[in-house]
Amino acid sequence: MTDLHRLSIRELSEGLAGSKFSSRELTEHYLKRIAKIDAQVQSYVTVTPEQALAQADAADALRKSGMANVLTGVPVAHKDIFCTQGIKTTAGSKMLDNFISPYDATVVAKGKVAGLVTLGKVNMDEFAMGSTSESSYFGATKNPWALDHVPGGSSGGSAAAVAADLAPFATGTDTGGSIRQPASFCGLTGLKPTYGRVSRFGMIAYASSLDQGGPMARSAEDCAYLMNVMAGHDDRDSTSVNVDADDYVANLNGTSVKGLRIGIPKQYFNVAGLDADVKARVEESLKKLEEMGATLVEIDLNMTDAYVPTYYLIAPAEASSNLQRFDGVRYGYRCENPVDLTDLYKRSRSEGFGPEVQRRILIGTYALSAGYYDAYYVKAQKVRRLIQQDFLKAFESIDVIAAPSAPTTAYKIGASLDPVEMYLGDIYTIAVNLAGLPAINAPVGFDKDQLPVGLQLIGNYWSESQLLSVVHQYQQTTDWHTKRAAIAEETV
Ligand code: GLN
Repeated sequence: MTDLHRLSIRELSEGLAGSKFSSRELTEHYLKRIAKIDAQVQSYVTVTPEQALAQADAADALRKSGMANVLTGVPVAHKDIFCTQGIKTTAGSKMLDNFISPYDATVVAKGKVAGLVTLGKVNMDEFAMGSTSESSYFGATKNPWALDHVPGGSSGGSAAAVAADLAPFATGTDTGGSIRQPASFCGLTGLKPTYGRVSRFGMIAYASSLDQGGPMARSAEDCAYLMNVMAGHDDRDSTSVNVDADDYVANLNGTSVKGLRIGIPKQYFNVAGLDADVKARVEESLKKLEEMGATLVEIDLNMTDAYVPTYYLIAPAEASSNLQRFDGVRYGYRCENPVDLTDLYKRSRSEGFGPEVQRRILIGTYALSAGYYDAYYVKAQKVRRLIQQDFLKAFESIDVIAAPSAPTTAYKIGASLDPVEMYLGDIYTIAVNLAGLPAINAPVGFDKDQLPVGLQLIGNYWSESQLLSVVHQYQQTTDWHTKRAAIAEETV
């Protein structure tokens, strides 16, 4: 079969179960595509053909013995922030260029238990800091829809791999939009779960109170399958919540769009820099949901102006603390011929970290320093609480909140080098992380340059099933999620 990459996860599962193809055939098919196409997209940092084929053979044997799970033998790509035993985990950084983790992240381990076949590790902004994937030490990943454009970030490799059909689905992480924004830029569905829903054990930390892993795929249905693997309590992550995860696949039709109250924040649609095409496509998708029976309700989210400054204090503050461990002594890059310990620290860190990571360590260290702690960090924490309360108040009268995922479509590679401009592009995603809420991106059309536009739906705590269900139903009556970039149509 030459078109295995066009099948949905459900179709892959059924095809494997019905012996229409084996996991080996499927895995070989994806490896061939990666070998032929990924030179143009550069979504993978590491491809692991030998391990993938061994896992595929094991999956096929398991299936013969009648012990297979729903996803046994289905390939996946992992963001290079999830530790993988025996395979490099770089976090997109020179600092971890040769790092091989002695253990698997919980998400990776759960994937193995579910029978997923790991194709490899995909590119990302260095330590997940960025919105373009350009800050990766391994070079920029390209957007499959237009190779001179960025795929978004930080999970840009995950998004580009799926959008070019180089993986059927992929894991991502979202600290301030890194699942939703690249999903938006690449025309995919991506879910950022409630904080605590997916284990962070073995997921290299950027900002621990904001980081959350989640699925990226073409459709809500495909995401639900991966979410069933990723979600759940983990004793090894103290912030992982001890609440049973849902069966996200079984719940795909569980929420009725009829009667759903969708809040439209006034402030969000007046943001300077909101692209006219993005606004139009998002409004059309909301009209569609209205036709399906939803009610649109205008709401106020008064704290909107505080999102960017609050996030860009808290995230760097936590990053500066988390990244202290990379000092050239225990892990990662070590400078050549240090003259003494201070020189070892200084040069290992300034040679091992790229400019964006260094910028954030500086901002974060400043915000946490004795003289400024109250004025910056403590104040930001207070504002964070107000942002959360703003959302909770809104959820008293509505079910979900609609917004764009990003004010623009994908930028040209090299276009957004001014850091502040890049930070402003995070306006629609970062408050969700500050509040710990779940949110999803769904593709809803294209701009005048044929670049994808995304709709974001934000839910109340633990409403992942509801978000997936609403998008699933939208995707039953629209076909934006089935559109493919020309490069994905290439056959091997
Ligand atoms: N663009 C945001 C940042 O640079 C979000 C990144 C993320 O979610 N990892 O911090």
